[in-house]
Amino acid sequence: MCNDDVYSPLADGFVPARAACARLFAESVSAAGPGDVRRALDKDTLNEKDFALLLSPAASDELETTARRARDETMRRFGRARQLFAPLYLANYCTNRCVYCGFHAGSGLKRRALTPEEIEAEAEALHVTGLRRVLALTGDAPRRTGADYIAAAVAVLARRFSSVGIEVPSQSVEDYARIARAGADGMTMFQETYDPELYARLHPTGPKRDFAYRLDAPQRAASSGMRSVNLGALLGLGDWRSDIFMTGMHAQFLQRKFPGLEIGFSLPRIRPAEADSAFRPSPVSDRDFVQALVALRCFMPHACITLSTRESAFMRDKLLPLGVTRLSAGVCTGVGGYARPTPKNNVQFAISDGRSVAEMAADLEKLGYRPVFSDWLLPGGGDLPLAGALRNALSATGTGA
Ligand code: SF4
Repeated sequence: MCNDDVYSPLADGFVPARAACARLFAESVSAAGPGDVRRALDKDTLNEKDFALLLSPAASDELETTARRARDETMRRFGRARQLFAPLYLANYCTNRCVYCGFHAGSGLKRRALTPEEIEAEAEALHVTGLRRVLALTGDAPRRTGADYIAAAVAVLARRFSSVGIEVPSQSVEDYARIARAGADGMTMFQETYDPELYARLHPTGPKRDFAYRLDAPQRAASSGMRSVNLGALLGLGDWRSDIFMTGMHAQFLQRKFPGLEIGFSLPRIRPAEADSAFRPSPVSDRDFVQALVALRCFMPHACITLSTRESAFMRDKLLPLGVTRLSAGVCTGVGGYARPTPKNNVQFAISDGRSVAEMAADLEKLGYRPVFSDWLLPGGGDLPLAGALRNALSATGTGA
């Protein structure tokens, strides 16, 4: 099967393609042997069947070879530059009951939504760390923190940051366009799992229960003019192999449909939520996690890959050469936690890597990498006269950081 079959017709979105992709994965993985994996790795460009092979149990024995290819692809496309950013939690009101999340509607969490003044204070607290890339997050509460609230918050953040991404509930094309006009240049959407039956069990109530509407949210965002789309599954909810495969296929679908779109992935492994829950994740071992990362890198060599502070400092440092290109730093997962400390029991999930932005940047340099704070490609990191003049000109026209 070739991807023309999988994605036919392209115009209908990824929803009809999902089942065909799932079948392709099952067929490819069930017949995979080490020889197939080695043959896939010998190719210049991997197709979707090769990608499935790299995710198969048989490929576990070829992990070092796959990792070498991932390392070489990463160096060729990204060199030693690694972007830094921070998430900014705007609000934690939520009407969903995702069973794995500490912000769910029944958790008893203290709820709040930042005012414009509080968002300004958060932005200032992050800005002084040197970061110029921020990801704004909300829970899913359309009446309190819907598109109007998100667009207004983005407008505040866009005054200080050169890149403002959003990780918010699924929106319509019109609302994505409004948020993009306010200054958002990218969106992150975790499908959580691409298995619709498991998805239904994990999302018993609330607007997020609509699997198909969420699945096509990245397409709606791309249609609205968002420059970049970042996809992911929450690893540990279901079968990580098939969820990573579907994430890669979803990205390939979007890339074919929107050739100018910047595609990225995030690889979150589930962490303990602070709220009580009977949900028990399916553990994803470190070895499996590495296999997921290097398979994705080999399949889509040009894609950004984000590794959050859910992972330990040790893991994040070790995975830098193998495909990771963007890291969060100095992170707080509570609402308003940058300007004021947040109680430990009022965060979405516990983080593993607590390094500050300065510590993260220093550690990257020690490891031979160049921390990148902004999307602007200014000579001398913004220190040269030309860079200063350009920055001032951009600020004066309201388009700069
Ligand atoms: S994962 Fe998001 S939508 Fe689900 S309960 Fe948590 S904050 Fe709400």
